[in-house]
Amino acid sequence: MTQFQNIPVYVVLLALAGSFSSAIGVFAWRRHTITGSKPLVLLAIAVAVWSFGYVLELVTNQFDTKLFWAKVQYFGIVTVALAWLGFALQVTARGQWLNRRTIPLLLISPIVILLLVWTNELHGLIWPNITLITDGLLPILDFDHGLGFWACIVYSYVGLLTGTVLLVLTFVRAPHLYRGQASILLLGVFPPWIGNALYISGLNPWSFIDLTPLGFALSCCAMAYGIFRYRLLDVVPIARDLVIEHMEDGVIVVDQHNRIVDLNTAAEQDLKHTASDLIGHAIDAAFARWPDVLERYLHKTEVAEEFITGVGREQRVFDLRISSLRDRRGRYNGRLVVWRDITERKRSEEALRLQNEELIALHAKLSMAKEAAETASRAKSTFLANMSHELRTPLTAILGYSQLLKIQIAKTHQTALIPDVAAIEDAGQHLLNLVTSVLDMSKIEAGKMELYLETFDVPLLVEQVIAIIQPLAKQNGNTLTVQCHNLPTSMYADMTKTRQILFNLLSNATKFTMQGLVTLSVDCELRNGQEWVIFSIADTGAGIAPDQMKHLFQEFTQVATQTPHVYGGTGLGLAISQRFCNMMGGEIIAVSTPGKGSTFTVCLPTTVPKPHTPLIPTEKVS
Ligand code: ADP
Repeated sequence: MTQFQNIPVYVVLLALAGSFSSAIGVFAWRRHTITGSKPLVLLAIAVAVWSFGYVLELVTNQFDTKLFWAKVQYFGIVTVALAWLGFALQVTARGQWLNRRTIPLLLISPIVILLLVWTNELHGLIWPNITLITDGLLPILDFDHGLGFWACIVYSYVGLLTGTVLLVLTFVRAPHLYRGQASILLLGVFPPWIGNALYISGLNPWSFIDLTPLGFALSCCAMAYGIFRYRLLDVVPIARDLVIEHMEDGVIVVDQHNRIVDLNTAAEQDLKHTASDLIGHAIDAAFARWPDVLERYLHKTEVAEEFITGVGREQRVFDLRISSLRDRRGRYNGRLVVWRDITERKRSEEALRLQNEELIALHAKLSMAKEAAETASRAKSTFLANMSHELRTPLTAILGYSQLLKIQIAKTHQTALIPDVAAIEDAGQHLLNLVTSVLDMSKIEAGKMELYLETFDVPLLVEQVIAIIQPLAKQNGNTLTVQCHNLPTSMYADMTKTRQILFNLLSNATKFTMQGLVTLSVDCELRNGQEWVIFSIADTGAGIAPDQMKHLFQEFTQVATQTPHVYGGTGLGLAISQRFCNMMGGEIIAVSTPGKGSTFTVCLPTTVPKPHTPLIPTEKVS
């Protein structure tokens, strides 16, 4: 018969421990998807079996009945170590250690121990001697402990110690992250050890009573609190790799209930709260500074956006990224919130944008100005072309009439008038040359100058040019020579323009050389598979200063200061010649040594292509 009237305090405590453990077992089972909950269910059941078995051992009177319940307790006792180890492995992210190969090995010892317990009468290996003590409030079984019992103790201690070391090490190594949780879990680790040490050492104030199940019941409570209250163990193993404590970005890890499980130093600084203030609390507390951010992103799982806080000088721009954290099976576990202050970058971007806009506006203005300048230039060229045309007509008339006058004067023998009429004719001719050059230049600039390509005889052309230039050369006491090394018989080009180029260059050579030598060399060369005619006009005259060479082919340029007075000229001859050469796909290269002479080399393709690609002239000074 049960002696309910004598139930001592520890029986009540044991019953409470059993009930608590059962409740935790049910609670944990309902959350069995959370890491660590399954071993916790096993631990809770084991502790409940142990506790209730112990209660029933204590409250029953019969020796056999008591022994039966003492044996039942061993189902719990051997399972506790196993469940404890399993719990420690799972929550420290070593769940994979429990597999098909390791579980059967781990089960060998408990099964052997259970067999020994239930067959103790045959060998006495667990309890060699059992006495029923009846002089206290309750009849109690006093056990002598045999080899099997100590084997069971060793097995249990190895399991418990391994689990305890794993838990303690893991949490001690991450002190910041687990500060709150470490203390709770460490609180849960020690009661069984204390209870067991008291029982084994005999220091227990209630002799014969094993306090270990009470210790384990307390552990179950602490473990359940640790994993279900904070969910820390669920989320952190996944997030750990992503969270870098010293990142400049603010980082927060929240669980699926929006409770903060971790944050880094940058986040602490930005949110103006310490980690210990925030961990375990709802995210609302953390983002109290930024209520609109909270409102906008509270329930979003994937975000990559910018948000702005503050106004005026206090305004800051942040780049926010929220990503969901999932376990290996893809179940949603929480969120990783990362933000970066990009205010400076935004300011630079804005400055760049403004600068760009200014540049675009400037470019538009410049384009308009260029357009206007081009229009003006075209208008000028058109005007000049028209004017030149208008001037040529009366000039031709002046020249014609002056020649007529010369004939009339010769007939009437008024020789005194001949020099005056010759002066009129010279001035008219000079003016006509000038007008012709201006007209040519205007046409080129207005894009109206056209090429008239034809096949012509090169030796004949050279002969004609020399015939015109010879008298000019003689005027200055120069000797004009022609050297033909490899004279091409014909070329396909604009003959008039080629003649004009040669005439311009040869007349310059004879004009700027006194008592010297002017040489025209003609050659034929192969360049890149194409045949070129090379006319080279060399003189031993004044030469051109190096700093004046770059202006040589610019229109209206007369590089020598004394040129207009001494030699006359328009400053258009070289510019027009270079343009003509370019139009035919060729170029003029000038080489000059002041005081020694100049060489102008005209390079033209033997067959001028259509359309041509103008080449850029190069100038050299030797
Ligand atoms: P211009 O009608 O004045 O001769 P050009 O364009 O033919 O105009 O020549 C421009 C200037 O280049 C000349 O005024 C002269 O100063 C210089 N120049 C051209 N050819 C020679 C040369 N062979 N020797 C020295 N100076 C030259």
